[in-house]
Amino acid sequence: MAEIPVPQHMTAEEFRRQGRAAVDWIADYWERVESLPVLSRAEPGQVRGQLPAAPPEVGESFDAVLADLDAIVVPGLTHWQHPGFFAYFPTSTSGPAVLAELLAAGLGVQGMLWQTSPACTEVEQHVLDWLAGMLALPEKFTFAGTGGGVIQDSASSAILVVLVAALHRASGGQVGREGVERGRYAVYTSTQANSSLEKGVRISGLGASSVRFIDTRPDLSMDPDALRSAMKEDVAQGIIPVMVMATVGTTSTGAVDPVEPIGRTCREYGAWLHVDAAYVGVAAVCPEFRWIHHGVDAYADSYATNPHKWMLTAFDCDACYVADRESLVGALSVLPEYLRNSATDSGAVIDYRDWQVPLGRRFRALKLWAVIRCYGVEGLRTHFRHSVALAQQFAAWVGADERFELMAPHPLSLVCFRLRGPDEPNQRLLDALNASGRVYLSHTVVRGAFTLRLAIGGTATRYEHVAAAWDDISRIAAGE
Ligand code: PLP
Repeated sequence: MAEIPVPQHMTAEEFRRQGRAAVDWIADYWERVESLPVLSRAEPGQVRGQLPAAPPEVGESFDAVLADLDAIVVPGLTHWQHPGFFAYFPTSTSGPAVLAELLAAGLGVQGMLWQTSPACTEVEQHVLDWLAGMLALPEKFTFAGTGGGVIQDSASSAILVVLVAALHRASGGQVGREGVERGRYAVYTSTQANSSLEKGVRISGLGASSVRFIDTRPDLSMDPDALRSAMKEDVAQGIIPVMVMATVGTTSTGAVDPVEPIGRTCREYGAWLHVDAAYVGVAAVCPEFRWIHHGVDAYADSYATNPHKWMLTAFDCDACYVADRESLVGALSVLPEYLRNSATDSGAVIDYRDWQVPLGRRFRALKLWAVIRCYGVEGLRTHFRHSVALAQQFAAWVGADERFELMAPHPLSLVCFRLRGPDEPNQRLLDALNASGRVYLSHTVVRGAFTLRLAIGGTATRYEHVAAAWDDISRIAAGE
C-alpha cells in the first residue's frame, strides 16, 4: 500500500510559544484599545481588498496570522472593549472569560448529550442554578424545581425555543406534529420590544401577522390594560393567546414592563409568559435592583438574560430558564437511533440537545463558571453598581444643562437624551461624536424624536471616560 501522508499539526511546543504570543497580544490590545478609534473607519470592501484572493496552498506560521490581525483586522474593527463604547448594549469581556473560552476550545468537547461529556452538562446545570440564586430567581427555574437553565447563544434563540415550547403547550403537542394552523394563535409584546420576537415568530411559522404590538404607558413600559383588551378581543374571535413577551430593560430605552399585572392576564388567558431581561437582568445580582423582576416569581414561565452583555462573560452566553422543562423538551426532543444511549434511557440525565435549536453545543458554561468564581458575587455587584453610578452621574450632567432633555427613565445604566428642538442637530451631534474616535453612541426614536443613547457597562469604562464623553457632547453641542 502506498504510504498515506500524515497531516501536520502545530506541535505542543509551538502551541505553547504561539499561545503565549496570542495571550500577550490580547493583553496588549486591552492596554492600547483606548488609543484606537472606537468606531471603525474602514470603507466598505477595505478589509477584503487586503486579503489574498485564494487561501495558501502551503500552511503558514501562526506569526503571519497575528501580523495580519494587526495590519488588516484591527483597523477594520469597531472596538467593543474600548472604554468609550457606549452604543447599543456593551458586550463586556474579561480575563477569566477569555481564558475559559481558550480552555473550552482546547478541550474541544461537544456536549449535545450528557454522555458526550457529562461535565459539560453538569457544570452548566450547576452554574445556571448558581446564577438563578444570584439573581434571586424562583426555585421553579432551577433543577431543584420543575425547570432549569440552559445556555443559548443569544436572547433571540431563547425567545425562539420558548415560543416553540409555548406553542407545544398551547396545542397539546399538535403544532409539533402537524405544523401551525394559520391565524389560530397570537403572540403579544410591547411596541418597544426587541425585534427578536418577530424573527422568532417568522421562524416558528406563526407569521409576523400573529404578533400584537401593545401600546406603552408614558414611561414606555407595556400597558397591561391594553394587553388585556387585545387578548380579550382575540379570544372573542377564537384566536388562542399563546405567549406574551414582557421586556425587563427594553433595547431602545431600558423600559421595564410591569411583569406582575402582565402575568395575571397571562394566567387568566392561559398564555405563556416569557420575560426578556437580556441586558438588565444580570443587575439583579445586586439586591437594590431586584425590583426589576417583580412578578417573575409568581408568573413567568420562562426568563432569559445575557451574561455576555453586562456581566463580563464575553460574547456569546445567554442564560435561559424555563419553569417547566417538560414543555421545552417535549417541543424539541427528537431521538434518532444513533443518539440513543443508556444514560438518556435511564431518564436520570439532562441532554441539552433537547433545549436548543442546534444538536451540537460547545462548553460555554466554562466561561460563566470562571467569571462567577474569579469575580465572586460581590465583585460582580461592584461592576454593576459602578456602571449604574456612572450612568446616574451622566444623567445628572444632562439634566442640569437646559440645552438637553432626558427622554426616558434611567434607573440603571442606559441614558436616553437629546438636544431640545428639532432632530437634525441631534443627528449632527451623534455623527460628530462618533467621528471623533473617542466615543461611540447609538440612537433611537422616542415619541417620534431622534434620541441619543449612552449605555454604560463596558469592562474598562471609568468615571474619566464618561466625563470626557459629556465634555465632548457639551462642546460639540455648543458648536466648538
Ligand atoms: N432582547 C433585548 C431586550 C435586547 O436588548 C437584545 C439585544 O440587545 C435582544 C433581545 C437580542 O439579543 P441577542 O443579540 O442576544 O439575540
